[in-house]
Amino acid sequence: MTCVVILLVLAATTVVTWMALSMSERDMKSVIGQQQFSLLSLAAANIDEQLAGKRTLLASIADDVPPRQRTPAAIRAAIERHASAAEEFANVAAFDANGRFLASLRPPLQDNPSVKDRPYFEQTLAQKRAIISPPLRGRVSSLPVVVLTHPIIDSGGDVQAVLVGSIDLLNSDFFQHFNTMKPGKTGFMFIMTTEGILVNHPNKGRLLEHINARPGVNLGTQRALDGFEGWLEATNKDGVDGIYSYKRLNTTNWIVGARYPTDEAFAPMIRMRQQAVLAATLFAAVAGLLSWSMIQVLLAPLQKLRSNLHAIRARGGDIGLLRSHAKDEIGELSEALYELTAERQAALERLAESEKRARVIADNIPALVAYIDRELRFRFTNEHYQFLLGIDPRRMVGKRVDEVFGPAMLARWQDCFDIVLAGRRIHVERLGEELERHLHLMVELVPDLAPDGSVPGFYMMCTDITERKTAELAQAASEKRLRLIADHLPVMISAIDREHVLQFGNATYRRWLDTDPDTLPGRPMASVAGEVAYREAKPWLERAFAGQVTDYESTARLHGEPRVLETTFVPDVRKDGSVPFVYALTTDVTRSREVEAELLRQARRDPLTGIPNRRQFEDVLDQAIERVRRQDSQMALAYLDIDNFKHINDSLGHAGGDEVLKEFALRLTGNVRTTDTVARLAGDEFVIVFENIRHPDEIQLLAQKVMDAVAPDFTVLGSPLRVTTSIGIALYAGGTETAGGLIGRADMALYDTKRRGRNGFTIDSGRGLPEAAVTRP
Ligand code: GH3
Ligand code: MG
Repeated sequence: MTCVVILLVLAATTVVTWMALSMSERDMKSVIGQQQFSLLSLAAANIDEQLAGKRTLLASIADDVPPRQRTPAAIRAAIERHASAAEEFANVAAFDANGRFLASLRPPLQDNPSVKDRPYFEQTLAQKRAIISPPLRGRVSSLPVVVLTHPIIDSGGDVQAVLVGSIDLLNSDFFQHFNTMKPGKTGFMFIMTTEGILVNHPNKGRLLEHINARPGVNLGTQRALDGFEGWLEATNKDGVDGIYSYKRLNTTNWIVGARYPTDEAFAPMIRMRQQAVLAATLFAAVAGLLSWSMIQVLLAPLQKLRSNLHAIRARGGDIGLLRSHAKDEIGELSEALYELTAERQAALERLAESEKRARVIADNIPALVAYIDRELRFRFTNEHYQFLLGIDPRRMVGKRVDEVFGPAMLARWQDCFDIVLAGRRIHVERLGEELERHLHLMVELVPDLAPDGSVPGFYMMCTDITERKTAELAQAASEKRLRLIADHLPVMISAIDREHVLQFGNATYRRWLDTDPDTLPGRPMASVAGEVAYREAKPWLERAFAGQVTDYESTARLHGEPRVLETTFVPDVRKDGSVPFVYALTTDVTRSREVEAELLRQARRDPLTGIPNRRQFEDVLDQAIERVRRQDSQMALAYLDIDNFKHINDSLGHAGGDEVLKEFALRLTGNVRTTDTVARLAGDEFVIVFENIRHPDEIQLLAQKVMDAVAPDFTVLGSPLRVTTSIGIALYAGGTETAGGLIGRADMALYDTKRRGRNGFTIDSGRGLPEAAVTRP
């Protein structure tokens, strides 16, 4: 500020001084010019006066020559009578009209000199009047001279003789007075003809030379030659400025000039200028000093504020130093600064806290976390670098990726870096080959997108997934094994999603349905199994999606063969209870069903006779009773026991007894309706269930028919044998009676027949008493 004040004061003083000086300079120049021109005019008048005097002198000499005796002696006497002639002229001579020498004041330098061919002589003769010649070189002396002539004219008006007065330009005192009038010390005066020939000049060597004989131009002289009179400023041929004045002589029209070098003319002014500069500088210095001390006083509080700020910034001083209770501008500024600084400090603390938190989080993430800039230099790295790779994360910051991990690593990752620096996020899983340990890395590169869309860098998160990868590989191997097993099981295995679309099928599909299992994923179940099979499976499948294991049996034609298939739907129940998939296991159970059916059939047959046994009989009876109740029909149960079978056994042996039992069964089954059932209960006990009895009387006929069937002799072991049987029949025509009750009644009826002597039948119609009892003789 002090400097500015000094500069301003200096500039102002300089401008004012310069303006004042230039104005006075201009005035002064005018005064000097005018003065000089006046002086020059005086000098010119003096020269004119002298020339006029010299002319008058010549005229007076001429007049003094007696008109009738114009002899050389008389002329010489006339000259000598004028004593001033010797002072005024270097020489005065007289020549006749032919230019021949007549007489002279001083003896001529040569004998009989002639001026016949001299222009001034010719001009005088021609004009018959006095002239002043331009400067010329003396024919004999070779000195520069100016010649004045005066003709002596006879009574006839002819020029009889010419008086010639010469002025020596080098030595005469003609210019003495004139030369003393020169301006200043270094200024000078000069005279030239209208043609520019120098008549007088301080440099005598230039006399008779043309003013422009020296190369260059002086505009002042040029104007003077063109007729200018007065003063002007011009530059001489050496480039030096001067004040020039010009005046024409009345007598010869010659130009009288004066040169006053500006330097000299303005020397006082230049001195004044230097003093002014000095004064201005001093003044500015004083003003500067004053302003500096005033600024010091004024800015003392500001200075204090500055030093406080410096203390806070450099040494972390207490920002309370900025608090000010002064009510002036600086006090307000200080208070505002305090508030701003406090806000900034709080923001910085928050930022530091947040950075610390981010750092702690980053350092404790089990992943390599880094921020890399566009030049691929690490700008941030977390502690995990130390843990996973043994690299000090602090040493990485500022280094380029290839400086840390080598150029080969950069070459491998350059494509990813290019993508992320173009603003796209990438996720890659790669083998970190550049590391000594071959780690499987999962890398996430996230661009740092600036608001203007540029990408100054990117974040890199790198997780070691070697363990997971190994586990995945192990799982894949185990899955492969499972697949191998699944493909070779004689079970059709599939995974079905909630849309009933197949997601997986094993190789059994190829064997059973000629379908490539690889084409199964994505195909709706209906299109693979067929619409009918799908409809059949759907309710079971839906129950399985509800979380229940279901299984059902179905039939299908595989390779044209009818097959029985058993399908089990197993829900894949997740922890949250959802069932995204149901696994279907379909087994061909045709063979086992056949075996089962056979076993079942055998369990219900009497092995000796091949007719239904007691178990089958009980079922048939229950069903028959049920039908009677439902259809409002009637049925009868006949209970048969071979008479004296023990005896047969005893006499023919057990095998013979068996023969009888078989033949007996055959005769019974051959003589009942297909809707009736014959069964052997045990030993020689048989039963017949008669269904669809329309009338109780029918029973008697049926009983008789059985009796008739048994009556013919049996052939046992090649011998005929009479076999008889006792029958007890119970009718059932509906009601609440149980199977046991019915059997009991039939048994009772049989007992009655036995009691009466065997070989007959008894019918219990269910009314309390036997309806009919027949005994064969
Ligand atoms: P009843 O006229 O009173 O019926 O006299 P029964 O001799 O026939 O006596 P019962 O009906 O009580 O005797 C049945 C006999 O049948 C008893 C037993 O030894 C014999 N038996 C049981 N099962 C078989 C068998 O499978 N084969 C043979 N051969 N005999 C059997
Ligand atoms: Mg018996």
